[in-house]
Amino acid sequence: MPEDRERPDALEAKPHVLIAGSGIGGLSAALFAARAGWRVTLVDREPALQEAGAGLQISPNAARLLAGIGVLDALDDIAVEPNGILVHRASDDRILTHARFGHRILAKFGAPFLVAHRADLQRALLDKVEAHVAITLKLGLALQEIHERPDIIEADFIAADGTAHRIGADLLVGADGLWSRARKLCGLPSPSRYSGKTAWRTLIPREEAPLFAREPDIHLWLGANAHLVHYPVRGGHEINVVAIIEDDWREEGWSAPGHPDVLASRFAGWHARARSLIAAAESWKRWALVDRAPETRWSRARMTLLGDAAHPMMPFLAQGASQAIEDAACLGSLIAGAGADPAALAAALSRYDRLRIPRTARIQKAALSQGRLYHASGLQARLRDTALSLLPGDAPLERFGWIYQHDARVPGA
Ligand SMILES: Cc1cc2nc3c(=O)[nH]c(=O)nc-3n(C[C@H](O)[C@H](O)[C@H](O)COP(=O)(O)OP(=O)(O)OC[C@H]3O[C@@H](n4cnc5c(N)ncnc54)[C@H](O)[C@@H]3O)c2cc1C
Repeated sequence: MPEDRERPDALEAKPHVLIAGSGIGGLSAALFAARAGWRVTLVDREPALQEAGAGLQISPNAARLLAGIGVLDALDDIAVEPNGILVHRASDDRILTHARFGHRILAKFGAPFLVAHRADLQRALLDKVEAHVAITLKLGLALQEIHERPDIIEADFIAADGTAHRIGADLLVGADGLWSRARKLCGLPSPSRYSGKTAWRTLIPREEAPLFAREPDIHLWLGANAHLVHYPVRGGHEINVVAIIEDDWREEGWSAPGHPDVLASRFAGWHARARSLIAAAESWKRWALVDRAPETRWSRARMTLLGDAAHPMMPFLAQGASQAIEDAACLGSLIAGAGADPAALAAALSRYDRLRIPRTARIQKAALSQGRLYHASGLQARLRDTALSLLPGDAPLERFGWIYQHDARVPGA
């Protein structure tokens, strides 16, 4: 039986962190903070955590951290370990390169490369959160305001029925995603940068998907001003398809409906196999791709940010969820020794900024240039395709080894 259950007063004695936002980053942060000896209150504005979204990639840098908090095992039957990545030329389905994963990933990075439905990762994290005696989850409360004093930070939340709730803590973590309120409260007003691209996602039942899309592989199709990514999720029972097109539509939210005819016309010049996959989808959800320029700080004396609230990024390296998990692990290891002591906490947060901002800024930049490469046309596209065909198959793994081999935990912090 955990120590806290034997001694009910032990929980109250722990330093207390309040996390606003229980997406992938907030749930992970709650588990890492609890492991670091903190009592956690985790709050989300949604009255129930929705089974929303579609596929996410969990690269080895995140998988090793999830293993450390016992979440990887829970994904065993439901996440898919792809055999590799195939890059197709959209016009004629020529395979430009094929990176094989298999034992190489584990041997090289010490952790697997997985793809999963966002809801399955959220469920696995949520199960651990709900079972943890030091974590309290409160749903249906939206962060509105903060009040900082030297010894405490208080946050005001508003419920759907208009009632106000104030929660005090030693530390506040803003994990409230792309359109973060916490970010504004933290004094970081840098504007959203709309990319002029939208992402469209759908899930196709395995038996309705074309045969080539059913294998446990990640497929990336490159065309002029658009690309397509697909892989199986949910233990292979569904195929996650994401199409990214140039489009200046701007609205907040992850799940606006998208009309299939728009995609069908945008992909009209593509090879029949890609078109058959797009045609197999019944409906699409879309969201506008947005990032922000990297900041020089995320933290104040008793407040910090993580995940999309801190460093929204383009999805072209599929690092959104993995970087939120890295933030959570890094922060957890840094606050482990700090407790509520103001000076120690401030030092831990400033170290968190120094460690995390350069890394996430580098990934934001790399994702932007990857997007330009994916959507190239004309001569640029021909040069890209030639280079891809000449490179050895494991070139993408080598090129992004600096992302995958990183361990965000800070030993002995
Ligand atoms: C509904 C939904 C669907 C998504 N679908 C996809 C997808 O299909 N593909 C993809 O690549 N990425 C998707 N994402 C984004 C992806 O999860 C993130 O980019 C990544 O995991 C980083 O996670 P995060 O925890 O920083 O942010 P998120 O996962 O976005 O979590 C933010 C959380 O904060 C909560 N929140 C927001 N404002 C407040 C507030 N004021 N007070 C309290 N709580 C607040 C939100 O309800 C949400 O639960 C989706 C996100 C959401 C919320």
